[in-house]
Amino acid sequence: MEIYGEYDVVIAGGGTSGVAAAIASARAGAKTILIERLGTLGGQMNVSGPPGFAYAYMFNPRGEQIIAGIMEETHARLLQDGHALPHTTPDFRVGYSFSLVDPDYWGLLIFEMMTENGVNLLLYSVAVDVVKEGNAVKGVIVENPSGRQVVLGKVIIDCTGEGHISARAGAPYEQVPKDQLEPHTISFTVDGVDWEKVLQYVRDNAAYEFNAMTHPYLGWTDEQIAERIRRVKDITEISNFMGYYSLRDAAIAAGDWHPYSGVGFFIMPRENGVFQAHFQHSSQVGNVDPTDVRDLTYAEIECRKQVTMALKFIKKYMPGFENCYLTRMCHELRIRESRRIMGDYVLTKADVAEARKFDDVIGKSSFSSGAKHVATKDTISYEGIVYPKDGGSYDIPYRCLVPKVVENLLVAGKAISADRDSYKRFLQETMVTGQAAGAAAAVCARNGISPRELERDVSELQKVLLEQGVILYGTY
Ligand SMILES: Cc1cc2nc3c(=O)[nH]c(=O)nc-3n(C[C@H](O)[C@H](O)[C@H](O)COP(=O)(O)OP(=O)(O)OC[C@H]3O[C@@H](n4cnc5c(N)ncnc54)[C@H](O)[C@@H]3O)c2cc1C
Repeated sequence: MEIYGEYDVVIAGGGTSGVAAAIASARAGAKTILIERLGTLGGQMNVSGPPGFAYAYMFNPRGEQIIAGIMEETHARLLQDGHALPHTTPDFRVGYSFSLVDPDYWGLLIFEMMTENGVNLLLYSVAVDVVKEGNAVKGVIVENPSGRQVVLGKVIIDCTGEGHISARAGAPYEQVPKDQLEPHTISFTVDGVDWEKVLQYVRDNAAYEFNAMTHPYLGWTDEQIAERIRRVKDITEISNFMGYYSLRDAAIAAGDWHPYSGVGFFIMPRENGVFQAHFQHSSQVGNVDPTDVRDLTYAEIECRKQVTMALKFIKKYMPGFENCYLTRMCHELRIRESRRIMGDYVLTKADVAEARKFDDVIGKSSFSSGAKHVATKDTISYEGIVYPKDGGSYDIPYRCLVPKVVENLLVAGKAISADRDSYKRFLQETMVTGQAAGAAAAVCARNGISPRELERDVSELQKVLLEQGVILYGTY
């Protein structure tokens, strides 16, 4: 087989985790290549779903910044150029933080950052298999318009979202049966919205029409929340709204809405102060295994039926959306849940609840544990949800990135080692784990050790991460 090239670090998958891994690896001095099946980079951030760091949780409910590094850098650069909104916490939703960016400009910036940092790109290339010597992965086999090649590397990072490369390499993984998996979604965006009319409806119906999603850290009553929603003056204070319960139920009764998802939108910042409405919960297809191509094909067809229905509903029922028009239809499913690669540590729901800290911390998260998206009109089931205690955050240990059994391999992004309940990998966590995996791979390549050997002493890795602006210590 043709050898495409030899690198220190080979990353498969150019979504949020993959691009962060590539930048971190190159900055740490490694000869790095990023392999992506599409001609573009960004994955679920800007290809299959563009809310742009919605529910970013870069701050914990106490207001402490817990995430910085490459994610903060992209937000700051876009903010400076007018393509992002400042970090914000809606007045009625204290405990959550949003860091909205224009996803298309984020995608352009990412290409710029690849060039700035000297990352080699191999696009239009599907990673189909691995080359192994014993238990050690030595390279990734790709298929692309040029044929089939092998890309050799000292350390391989699986950032495919679904853990495809780790599974190919023989790493153990867990995935719940497909009837229990979270549903998948196709997202879309509309413009032509009368935002003042939208806000008026929100204010007038604040007490019962919406899911205010208030953090329990606050202990507010429904009326206190509604009172705060009534005070909203500007669309940027909202960030997103789910609910429209009475409109949804009326539409279901009239056959104008499907019963598989809820109604609501995220604001998406565009240029010159323009905002568009992004719908990422309006099609949901459950009972679909993302590792089964027949299921995926079925879900793509079914989701589009739901999107077509949703667009009609939005114009007919939602005040302020009467003249809206479709501006951005995501090309493919946004996959919520798939394989979790089992690593040397499995992050648990108890770790989240206890806001546990680890000696081998590589990043933090304040995301809750236990809630699940469901393919019903309720959209999310909050049964069993727990939040990190005291409004704090939990550490993500390095060992969650090191798959069991297989050597020379790291995993980052959605598929890291976690139990089902603590599995709630959002964009921020995928960028945090991506940056850590990239830096770790570079340290391993530099010292001629395997990712598992690095577990014995992570101090050099932590030093690199701190130098790259990552927050590791000093927060709840
Ligand atoms: C409906 C929905 C709504 C969400 N809402 C939010 C939200 O509001 N806020 C938030 O923070 N997060 C949200 N998330 C979660 C977030 O989008 C994901 O957790 C995150 O994007 C996953 O990043 P990743 O890098 O692991 O995977 P991905 O972004 O999926 O990236 C994987 C990349 O690998 C590539 N790839 C896959 N297989 C191969 C292969 N074999 N060879 C080469 N390339 C390959 C893909 O093309 C893709 O570019 C949402 C997710 C869903 C499904």
